[in-house]
Amino acid sequence: MRYPHPDERSYLSRRVFLTHALGVVFTLGVEPHLTRVLSRADEPPPNPYRGGVWLAGDHHIHTKYSSDGKYEIAKQVGEAVQHGLGWCVITDHGAKDHDKILLKKAYPDLLEARRAYPNIFVFQGLEWNVPAAEHGTVIMPMGEDEARRLAEFEARFDPKNTSLGQPPDTEEAALEAVRYLERFVPAALFFANHPARRGLVSPHELRAWSDVGKRVMRGFEGAPGHQMDKMRGAYRQKPSAQSWQKYPPESYLTYDGFDWMTATVGGVWDSLLAEGRPIYITANSDSHVHYKEGGSDFFPGEYSKTITWLPERRPSAVLEALRSGSMFTVHGDLIDRLEFYVRAGDRHARMGGTLLLPPRVRRVQVVIRVRVPSSTNFAGQRPTLHHVDLIEGKITGVSADRDNFTNPTARVAARFLARDWKRDDDGYLRMEHVIEDPSEPFYLRVRGTNTSRREPFPDPPNVAAPWAALWFYSNPIFVRLAG
Ligand SMILES: [Zn+2]
Ligand SMILES: [Zn+2]
Repeated sequence: MRYPHPDERSYLSRRVFLTHALGVVFTLGVEPHLTRVLSRADEPPPNPYRGGVWLAGDHHIHTKYSSDGKYEIAKQVGEAVQHGLGWCVITDHGAKDHDKILLKKAYPDLLEARRAYPNIFVFQGLEWNVPAAEHGTVIMPMGEDEARRLAEFEARFDPKNTSLGQPPDTEEAALEAVRYLERFVPAALFFANHPARRGLVSPHELRAWSDVGKRVMRGFEGAPGHQMDKMRGAYRQKPSAQSWQKYPPESYLTYDGFDWMTATVGGVWDSLLAEGRPIYITANSDSHVHYKEGGSDFFPGEYSKTITWLPERRPSAVLEALRSGSMFTVHGDLIDRLEFYVRAGDRHARMGGTLLLPPRVRRVQVVIRVRVPSSTNFAGQRPTLHHVDLIEGKITGVSADRDNFTNPTARVAARFLARDWKRDDDGYLRMEHVIEDPSEPFYLRVRGTNTSRREPFPDPPNVAAPWAALWFYSNPIFVRLAG
């Protein structure tokens, strides 16, 4: 069953169609060759990631234009380049008069940084104080109006900005803001930041934002920034009066650096994926002040990366990858490539995509190819991949309970250790899994670590040791049954 959007039913159907259509275009483009290859039984089928570009990035970076920030925009962009990023988003805090500072000072600096570093895409963003909730990243599509439109959005909808009067700080005001983006800046994006940090983002708010922002609201930080903070991620570790009171005490912690919503198999993220919602995760630095200079942060790319796969290298393709889940997250450069895809007959789907299983094809092949970097990470280590988990959950349809935050069907369907993968000619580690005759729609996602931990450990308070346990998390692939 498809996730039905009664008010905009065509959207996801169109999305399935587009995914499928892209597959068809891809297939048609190589048809003569493909036919020959498939006729030789010893050749593997083509890899849907071939021909694209991998580009790492960070959508949550502060500068001196945040009251708690320190660096010039060009300094942060330079650090992003130094640490291997190909795109980044400058997201200073929404605040009193920040819309004016953005237009007069910060945006000219951002344009200067673009000129100084032509090999990285620098987007104009905002760390929005989402009314009645947490912070969120808003990313603007590049264009001559980018800063003006963002400043206008901030003045209208950020409760800490009073340039147009005091915006309301209510759940309805947040929905109004997302509707505004969806209508007037549909190429923009909104991700919830550090969602479980203070328990301010309830499951029904995530669902509501996703319902009214089908194009612009596509997920949240799977791992927060501030990874050198002694309270990892600067997580408060306990609820406040403003918290959604049904979250359990363990939700206020990070788990080997990842947010509880993502790190829990069968948790908040899985409950949203069970509805077939296109909700995707990212990992960012939230870089304010580096830990060697008195802060608790890494520079962009130094520890956290969101690695996107693009059909070609252009700024709008980065935003489309973020929108469509064509990306994975990683800490400490544990891996630098993840080709995770499913095939059935002549169809395939990449991360974030949907495979529509043809009626007579009952066998879904899952391929996971990862690359471990050949150089050391920024702690001077070469971490070893210990195991990779393939997580499966059923797509059971829209939850009647808008605050549901569990999915009991989610489970580790396969665990791959070194003995279970083989090394391909290009050095990638290949794992395969087959799902026979599925009777219900489902989704798959992948995680892996350098530790032998079966589940990530809760991070203890007053310890800053982020390099010991490293994880990567993929985005999901949805599999639906045709007919
Ligand atoms: Zn924040
Ligand atoms: Zn921030």
